[in-house]
Amino acid sequence: MTALPDPASARTSSPRLLVMKFGGTLMGSSAAIRHSASLVGRSTAQGVNVVVVVSAMTGVTNQLLKLAEAAETGEIAFANDEIAFMRNRHFTAAQELGAAPDSETVRDIREMHETLRQAVYGVYLLRELTLRSRDLIVSFGERLAAPLMALALAQTGLNSHALTGGQAGILTDSHFGNAKPLPLTYTRVRDRLEGLLNAGLTPVVAGFMGETEKGATSTLGRGGTDFSATIVGAALHADEVWTWKDVDGFMSADPRAVPRAQTIAQLSYGEVMELAYFGAKVLHPLAVTPLQEHNIPLRVKSAADPDFVGTLVTAEAITLHGISVKAVTAIKGVSIITVSGAGILGVPEVVADLFNILARENITLLMVSQSSSMSNVSLAVQSASAERTVAALRTPLAGRRLQVDIQEGVAVLAIVGAGMRGTKGVAARLFSALAGEDINILMISQGSSELNISVAIEEQDVDSATREVHRAFGLDSTEQF
Ligand code: ADP
Ligand code: ASP
Ligand code: MG
Repeated sequence: MTALPDPASARTSSPRLLVMKFGGTLMGSSAAIRHSASLVGRSTAQGVNVVVVVSAMTGVTNQLLKLAEAAETGEIAFANDEIAFMRNRHFTAAQELGAAPDSETVRDIREMHETLRQAVYGVYLLRELTLRSRDLIVSFGERLAAPLMALALAQTGLNSHALTGGQAGILTDSHFGNAKPLPLTYTRVRDRLEGLLNAGLTPVVAGFMGETEKGATSTLGRGGTDFSATIVGAALHADEVWTWKDVDGFMSADPRAVPRAQTIAQLSYGEVMELAYFGAKVLHPLAVTPLQEHNIPLRVKSAADPDFVGTLVTAEAITLHGISVKAVTAIKGVSIITVSGAGILGVPEVVADLFNILARENITLLMVSQSSSMSNVSLAVQSASAERTVAALRTPLAGRRLQVDIQEGVAVLAIVGAGMRGTKGVAARLFSALAGEDINILMISQGSSELNISVAIEEQDVDSATREVHRAFGLDSTEQF
């Protein structure tokens, strides 16, 4: 591995305050939580203050979503069984982490499960699961995980205090399921957490969740604990935010799809945003945004190999000579919706209407392309929102003799790297790698930032395409990094 200059080294030689985030796998059992706590202990032993942000135990978020949906369809017995199973899992972990049966933590865990049971029963009675009630239910995963981490920290000799996202000061808008922090969040988080730090306590914040001005529980979108950690990091002007992972860092591709993927030593905020947006599950797409204003570095670190540097994310994009593309990523489960017909020819308002409709429906576009004759516009969206998109478009466009078609089973593959800017031949290399594998391209787009080129292809081809493109850009070789 080539040594890269570390732009953050000046400020991080002796950090005073770190925010550390632990995801579901690292919170998956008492043993995993104990190991995670020991990673906190390595820094606190050196006099560093640490704020910990945690995810739900592995699988719990999906389980909560499933049981909430079951309650809505009347399957309350199934939902209650799932809650009982989860309660056991949390009690067992608490016990293994040293909690006495009559301790405050065990009482808290019991009470939280009771509140969860009541919320789920409400959904069952109403047979209605709103985004708001779903957020309340799904937030219990993180709420229940925070006291477990506090127990593990106590075992390492640290005094800690568990908080919900709302208690930590995270105030959001009311876009339940995908809420964003309001500006006031930052002063609130600083006031609340600094008080605990000054009292010698290590705060443990439940990730993924916040609360609205009315006090309703909200969530920041799947994978949102990364975002919670960076919000806290920005609020406290932390020296760095460390997201501990079950991988060595941000890699040149998802290691599950590309076994030869390599760890990337350095990425810019912009590169990370592109990668996360185009499916690199390792970080929430908005996670770096709070860090940008104060230029706070983010490190993606390996929990299994804590001495390894991992990936450093900063404002600067450091590109070694000759490297144009740093990573390949893909989103599966995409659909292409094509609006076509004579009614669109030379009528720019149609395109304006189209985007207005999508904005109103809060539909995220992955790619857009328009033929120069303007006889058709193609939109790539997540398949989960495809039907909603078609329904929203059909009625208003019908009067204009336009046709709306949908193609399912699509994936978007993207190559990302700041070194692509002004480098010739990158697209040609991408296209010939795909052609070499006999893969047909359905749509193409290159952002004007030249940070990425993305192509839509058939979903069945995406894994082999990712491996081939990874190889074609020399990313299989450790020499590159
Ligand atoms: P956490 O629970 O800690 O938030 P995630 O499961 O959300 O962790 O993200 C880590 C996973 O992301 C890895 O196990 C890996 O399979 C997947 N992943 C996808 N793309 C990448 C990539 N480019 N680099 C590293 N990991 C990736
Ligand atoms: N537990 C939440 C999820 O599974 C948030 C997170 O893990 O970051 O999406
Ligand atoms: Mg995640």
